[in-house]
Amino acid sequence: MVDPAVTSVQVASQERRAQLADRLADARARVDEAARAAGREPAEVEIVAVTKRWPASDVVALADLGVRHVGENRPQEGAAKREEAAAAAGLVWHFIGQLQTNKAKIVAAAADQVDTIDRLALVAALERGAAARDRRLGALVQVSLADDPEAERHRGGCPPAELLAVAEAIAAAEHLELRGVMGMAPLGGDPQRAFAILAEAAAAVQREYPAARQISGGMSGDFGFAIAAGATHVRLGTLILGERPVVG
Ligand SMILES: *Cc1c(COP(=O)(O)O)cnc(C)c1O
Repeated sequence: MVDPAVTSVQVASQERRAQLADRLADARARVDEAARAAGREPAEVEIVAVTKRWPASDVVALADLGVRHVGENRPQEGAAKREEAAAAAGLVWHFIGQLQTNKAKIVAAAADQVDTIDRLALVAALERGAAARDRRLGALVQVSLADDPEAERHRGGCPPAELLAVAEAIAAAEHLELRGVMGMAPLGGDPQRAFAILAEAAAAVQREYPAARQISGGMSGDFGFAIAAGATHVRLGTLILGERPVVG
């Protein structure tokens, strides 16, 4: 599948670069303010720029502007973009999408960290893929923040009751490095309540694995709530890059 948004543009226009610079500065200022409002240090909160559906030229432009983390949610798109954006060295590529085990190999080869590990079968598939490539992958357990995790299983995220089993499997996997937890507030739900569930999940994991300190929560619409609840990483797409182009 050829994705025109990924393959057409080589270098972002001056205009696009100026726009990304403005939007990124604005996003960073808002994140900093949310941190201060929560009595936290702005430096405690990293931005993951969610570049899905945007071309590799935007990734390169963002890297030039100091972005260090990018997020992609489709295996092939992410792998192709990383290759095309090879000029942007030193980026940490996060995979943030729902992942089928039969695509784990692609992600294990192209991502640096997988933020959406929500079941044991996926741990095993990513470990196999990383081992085959002799790579080490950062790993977050995605926790469902829904009131009824079973009913919401199709949206991704393990029920909190399964959290420690998934964390333990990651910690035991030779090529995976457990770094923390990730969650998405359910659409139309109460974000404060959702990110409180995420904070509890993070505390439970850190009791067993003190080094697993990442808490990835919050998107363009709700990052303030996530930061108030202790998020260390916010995943911002629209706020930085604009409304996503419709592709395919
Ligand atoms: C797309 C996406 C984001 C970014 O969403 P915005 O609302 O555009 O900031 C964050 N997290 C995940 C898991 C996503 O798929």
